[in-house]
Amino acid sequence: MVATILRAGGASFNVNFEHLRNYLRDPIVRRGVTSVLSGIGRHGVTKPQFLDAPFLVVWNFTNACNLRCKHCYQRADKPAPNELSTEERLKIVGELAEKGVVSIAFSGGEPLMRRDFYEVAMEAERRDMYIALAMNGDTDESGYSIDRKLRMHPPSVYRSLKSAKETSQN
Ligand code: SF4
Repeated sequence: MVATILRAGGASFNVNFEHLRNYLRDPIVRRGVTSVLSGIGRHGVTKPQFLDAPFLVVWNFTNACNLRCKHCYQRADKPAPNELSTEERLKIVGELAEKGVVSIAFSGGEPLMRRDFYEVAMEAERRDMYIALAMNGDTDESGYSIDRKLRMHPPSVYRSLKSAKETSQN
């Protein structure tokens, strides 16, 4: 049944069936496709498409940052007094996964300032969610070491570029 749908869908969009089938072996892709199909099932085809859960959640993971950029709209420096515990963060990841969220983008502040960043991000990847990371590039972590730690699904890493002045960046 699924193969028939894939064949028909692939033919409509001129996509090779085998490519489509291999693509769908990726659990993150399956999560994304499931999200869209269940949204269509519940709401019909809408424009924009209504989904049962947000496709992407941007999480300001901490207010802590090792930089003090003048333009920072977050006014990041120290952790906020009421930041969540690690257990609360892990619980939130589980709830987002169960609701059908496909992707989490970790932002801040600087997410890597939290010692539990990898624990929480690994929980998200264990639940087959796609991870993006917005970092300032001024920590000890390189893209290579992040990829090695989050090796199940290496994340999209977005770094800000430093300006000529040491105290600010764009
Ligand atoms: S690196 Fe980002 S979060 Fe940190 S102070 Fe600069 S703009 Fe704000």
